[in-house]
Amino acid sequence: MKEKKGVKNDIDLDAEDMKTLVRLFKEYYKEQKGEDFPSDPKVQMMEAVKAVFRSWDNPRANVYRRMNDIPYSWGTAVNVQPMVFGNLNEKSGTGVAFTRDPATGEKKLFGEYLINAQGEDVVAGVRTPSPIDKLAQDMPEVYQQFVTIANNLEKHYRDMQDMEFTIENGKLYMLQTRNGKRTAAAALKIAVDLVDEGMITEDEAVLRVDPKQLDSLLHPQFDAKALKAAQPIGAGLAASPGAACGKVVFTAEDAKEWAERGEKVVLVRLETSPEDIEGMAAAQGILTVRGGMTSHAAVVARGMGTCCVSGCGEISMHAEEGYFELGGKKYNQGDYISIDGSTGKIYGEAVPTVEAAISGDFGRFMGWADARRTLKVRTNADNPRDAAQAVKFGAEGIGLCRTEHMFFEGDRIKAIREMIVSETVEEREKALAKILPLQQGDFEEMYRVLEGRPMTIRFLDPPLHEFVPQKEEEIVELAGEMNISVERLKEVIAGLHEFNPMMGHRGCRLAVTYPEIAAMQTTAVINAAITVSEETGTMITPEIMIPLVGEVKELKFVKDVVTSTADKIIAESGLDMHYKVGTMIEIPRAALMADEIAKEAEFFSFGTNDLTQMTFGFSRDDAAKFLGAYYDNKIYEFDPFAKLDQEGVGKLVKMAAQLGRQTRPDIKLGICGEHGGDPSSVEFCHNVGLDYVSCSPYRVPIARLAAAQAAIKEKNA
Ligand code: PEP
Ligand code: MG
Repeated sequence: MKEKKGVKNDIDLDAEDMKTLVRLFKEYYKEQKGEDFPSDPKVQMMEAVKAVFRSWDNPRANVYRRMNDIPYSWGTAVNVQPMVFGNLNEKSGTGVAFTRDPATGEKKLFGEYLINAQGEDVVAGVRTPSPIDKLAQDMPEVYQQFVTIANNLEKHYRDMQDMEFTIENGKLYMLQTRNGKRTAAAALKIAVDLVDEGMITEDEAVLRVDPKQLDSLLHPQFDAKALKAAQPIGAGLAASPGAACGKVVFTAEDAKEWAERGEKVVLVRLETSPEDIEGMAAAQGILTVRGGMTSHAAVVARGMGTCCVSGCGEISMHAEEGYFELGGKKYNQGDYISIDGSTGKIYGEAVPTVEAAISGDFGRFMGWADARRTLKVRTNADNPRDAAQAVKFGAEGIGLCRTEHMFFEGDRIKAIREMIVSETVEEREKALAKILPLQQGDFEEMYRVLEGRPMTIRFLDPPLHEFVPQKEEEIVELAGEMNISVERLKEVIAGLHEFNPMMGHRGCRLAVTYPEIAAMQTTAVINAAITVSEETGTMITPEIMIPLVGEVKELKFVKDVVTSTADKIIAESGLDMHYKVGTMIEIPRAALMADEIAKEAEFFSFGTNDLTQMTFGFSRDDAAKFLGAYYDNKIYEFDPFAKLDQEGVGKLVKMAAQLGRQTRPDIKLGICGEHGGDPSSVEFCHNVGLDYVSCSPYRVPIARLAAAQAAIKEKNA
């Protein structure tokens, strides 16, 4: 109707237009439902109530709950309250306001409102609202009253409030208040400020920030130089901070699909609505034509920590034809654009991003967290760059260095392949001799970066299918290097084929069949530790970890290779170096036999990726294909590879920890599966008494905060 009449706002339509619209909607309703639209207000209300209850089970709600760890079993509630009219006249209006800025945390009333409008007009982003300050001019008394109420509410709840209000003919009504959603930066600032204002304790402050949210603080910003050189093509509202650079897509489905195949995308929409949620989560950033700072796009993006620029009305959208226009230029689907969610600026090119710098409130806040946690936080890293990043984020060492990951690149993979397809000990030793210096050099670099922090080095655990050459040219090349015929090599490769490589010849099974591999790795570790210890004057205690153990005798077998090799090298060096040999607990049998295994293992690290795979009996590589049906049918509510299954897999962890300590009271216990960076799993690790968690570098701050929260919750309980 607005398009037909050439007007912009609902209120530009007259009574006749509205009547026509109502008639059209009624006709549509009848067409769809085969009955008249109910005219009894009680029936209407009950239908509305039922619709809210039904909404608990719609696909968007299910996605949202999975993202936010909300159990399906909770169910929802409906409030029925009489409403007043914000669209009665020019002395009426409606708005949303926060007691502090939800983007920055700054202590000032922040919000927006619309004169002569209903609440839906503000949140749906159909009209772009005015800032709340303007209300001071439009209706000074109402504004003053609102400020007083806002202050009282914040004092009462001792947290930033998100309030909805309606003004009917000059009279203010509060519709609701709740603790406001906020960006990570705002959450930190508000927590720190509330401590300084004497409103909350440091403990409370630590509990106030959602660890997962920290993610957005750690993510890239635009490179300052590149940003200076770039010319903005337009601007919208700075709705959710951060920098995003990616290819233009116009639908949530495309955003999801393109992101799944590894493309970075910016989702450009007229406005967003809840069905876009998955696409929004998959995008680097979100740009909308309509909508204010409290529009759906702005609020949802902020919660996700995704960069968002909203309400850029200068954009002329032609999504159906696959382009939009801005600043006199056309941008097609697939073209690069960049958006700055902190300034609202839009760039028609790819502006490179740089890592986030963390300081100020963050440092102070994390200091409170660190003072409270008992769980140590290490990182999973297998190259010096990641290790250095993790140390910057507060990692206290490396909990898992996956040595097979050190061989994915360049010529290195060739050496590993040569080792894998070797048919004799001599051939294998020749290949290992090529690997030894590379491996040793890598370990030295890592030890240098760690500056005395501990490092658990896990011995080779290559699922063979990831390493065996598959392409013809690779096979020909390798055959040439090994001086054997292509046919022979193909036979060897065929012989290595496994039906289930994840449960095949991997982990310590490799070292049991080829002990010379364990000997080479031990040599590399000990030599590297000796070199760097001598260089720095600080004695390193290497930690060697044997993977995929299920039986104490296989651990003993490999450990014997390690100790005989290590003891000899250390004796020759004349140094007083000690080292530890431990194991991963990642096979259910190892958890069941943990008391026996602890006789040989000086530490356990729970490999909950494999432990989850083997306990559930579904492959970590294939499960995603069918887990969707399990979520849809509420059989599982979350991905057990992301969030630890505390009831099942967790029971094994708890039991193994107890059995291990029974045999060896001072055994060191950690976790290095992906769960080590998941807040609820970290809490579980704290509660079962592990010594540390180890996670990917960017999740180190998350784990530090989650560990602190677990300690505080335990104390409070
Ligand atoms: C594990 O299984 O949890 C683990 C950390 O090892 P990987 O992921 O390398 O199998
Ligand atoms: Mg594993």
